[in-house]
Amino acid sequence: MSSSVSIANENGVAVVTIDNPPVNALSFHVRKPLYEALAALRDDPAAKAIVIACAGRTFVAGADITEFGKPVQQPELRAIIALLETVPKPTVAAIHGTALGGGLELALGCHFRVAEKSAKLGLPEVKLGLLPGGGGTVRLPRLIGAAKSLAMIVSGTPISAGEAKAAGLVDAVVDSDLLAGAVRFAGEMADRGGPFVPVRDRNDRLAGTDLAAFDAQAAELAKKARGLEAPLACAQAVRNAITLPFDEALAAERQLFLKLVSGDQSSAQRHLFFAEREAAKVPGKDLQRRRIECVGIIGAGTMGGGIAMAFANGGLPVTLLETSEEALRRGLATIEKNYAVSVSRGSLTEEAKQKRLGLFTGSTDYADLADCDLIIEAVFEDMAVKKEVFGKLDTIARPGAILATNTSYLDVNEIAASMSRPQDVLGMHFFSPANVMKLLEVVRAEKTAPEVLATVTDLARAIGKVAVVVGVCHGFVGNRMLAARGAENEALLLEGASPAQVDKAFTDFGWSMGPFQMGDLAGLDIGWRNRKARGQAAVIADMLCEQGHFGQKTGSGWYRYESGAREPVADPQVETLIRAKAEELGIAQRQIGAEEIIERTLYPLVNEGAKILQEGIAARASDIDVVWVNGYGFPVGKGGPMFWAGLEGAGRIVERLEYWHGRTGRAILEPAPALRRFAETGAWGLRVASRNFVIPGRSEA
Ligand code: NAD
Repeated sequence: MSSSVSIANENGVAVVTIDNPPVNALSFHVRKPLYEALAALRDDPAAKAIVIACAGRTFVAGADITEFGKPVQQPELRAIIALLETVPKPTVAAIHGTALGGGLELALGCHFRVAEKSAKLGLPEVKLGLLPGGGGTVRLPRLIGAAKSLAMIVSGTPISAGEAKAAGLVDAVVDSDLLAGAVRFAGEMADRGGPFVPVRDRNDRLAGTDLAAFDAQAAELAKKARGLEAPLACAQAVRNAITLPFDEALAAERQLFLKLVSGDQSSAQRHLFFAEREAAKVPGKDLQRRRIECVGIIGAGTMGGGIAMAFANGGLPVTLLETSEEALRRGLATIEKNYAVSVSRGSLTEEAKQKRLGLFTGSTDYADLADCDLIIEAVFEDMAVKKEVFGKLDTIARPGAILATNTSYLDVNEIAASMSRPQDVLGMHFFSPANVMKLLEVVRAEKTAPEVLATVTDLARAIGKVAVVVGVCHGFVGNRMLAARGAENEALLLEGASPAQVDKAFTDFGWSMGPFQMGDLAGLDIGWRNRKARGQAAVIADMLCEQGHFGQKTGSGWYRYESGAREPVADPQVETLIRAKAEELGIAQRQIGAEEIIERTLYPLVNEGAKILQEGIAARASDIDVVWVNGYGFPVGKGGPMFWAGLEGAGRIVERLEYWHGRTGRAILEPAPALRRFAETGAWGLRVASRNFVIPGRSEA
């Protein structure tokens, strides 16, 4: 046979084993011998049943996604499943690890599924902007019903073997020795005798489906899709399974799949899938990591508390340091309250809460940080305060401890230079709320030791964060680009757009929230203080802050908020204020359309990203996309700003920026050389994770 697929015979049961490390993806070199093996075994009298199993750490965890968008080499998965369904003797999938996507669809082609207790089963295609294209949407409902299938396929979240058994997806769960259990099960089925009905012909779970209830469930899910096509296509495909004969529903699923796979949204989501993996690759794979067994956090405010929770959630003990007992008590109380909310929502058990709280130690004495392996500073954003803190750390931290700052903007090189051990210093820029947000900008300073960087990126992954290594500049990658995006916001208002119009252009683009709504949520005072510290001004925002309008927390900001509500209401006072200011500055107001709003906010965002690449602050264009999707809510269906630039057409972006630059004279709108180069060459440069970056058929991409 082939090295990827082998056959053995165990007491008359044929065992077909797939061996394609690391995750047994259904690559062509697996599909071909698998098809041949099944074709041969179907008519082999020496095999009374067939078990499909996998070597290594998991059952088939999906299709080979590097094959997407390329001409399909036969046999396709669908042909293998169709063949399986003609086998008259019992076929059994033996599932361990994760049966995902094409893997689960292969298992659905078998008469029976036997799973190890720890196995997980799911159809996560929606996360790549796709639907299960190998019959999953048509077969799964035949086993577990339409409602549960819809939830599983639209969320893409796998279920446990136990749940799968209860739902009817799995026929038996075994505690250990899966293969022996599956062979025994297959043998028993063969001995009991057929006929064995393939899943395609099992309609009992579909009969009597309440279509109106299904449609209501699908409509609920559609609301959450926010412009993404895949969840809607998934729902349509499952609906077809209810309303159409099997073969027609299967053909319709194929058509929906082909449409999605050739669309921009799926290529954007696949780009992000690779981009995240690429971002995780930092130089120094073989370097010895430093030991991180306990973490110290300085400052128990908004960020310090969230960061401490992020580590405790990852199982690490945390020592939290504050300036006074009172501040410490406040910080710890907030943490406790946050966990209590999780318990009341049912996302955390009381026992897990107690366990996590048990990982915290509070202190007001720096000496208590002496044994910490990693110490993260999250005190006020003030260089003098930060240097004072790092000065103390220099004297008390153990040799080799990693010392990090959570600064949003300050120069990490300057902080490191004030220390006797700059090689141990780096930035760890978490995002608020730090226990929830996945992004971590790992800021590499000039002298940061490579193993410090590697240790921190590994650690970030271990606590469930998406780490991106960035260089030192004001605001690093994310906040620096955010400033470029925001630079035109006030100009747009002064020229005649309202906050609500700008926000609507953003939500129509796919953001969950526009910049003004976001500002109100985060608090306008943060930016105001930062501007004052840097001698900068934002005429309207400063005026709002001077009048005490800090956003949601004060009940008014760019919008008004009725007592306690989070729903923004347009505030005529703010609009009057803007008009008066425009008049005072001699700016004529006019109608401003959504297209102009996007050009003047998101084109500068891309342009700043180009400068960041040019300066080597980010290693790859795709790293910037990972930052923006995970930290700032850039719509996943657009793949992040740098990928979107390709979709939009870099040539067009350059042209429009030139126009706006000419019209306003503002430097932020002048196209960067790297952007011009992208427009000319179709590539951001060698640093780009290029595998999935080029969009076929687009001259600028
Ligand atoms: P915060 O005001 O909520 O908390 C700061 C805490 O630090 C306070 O509790 C204060 O008592 C404590 N503190 C001050 N000086 C101290 C000292 N010398 N020793 C010990 N504790 C001290 O501020 P925050 O929003 O948590 O911001 C903290 C840092 O994180 C800043 O550098 C900020 O730029 C950065 N940051 C903030 C956000 C955000 O969204 N808030 C996001 C990313 C990064």
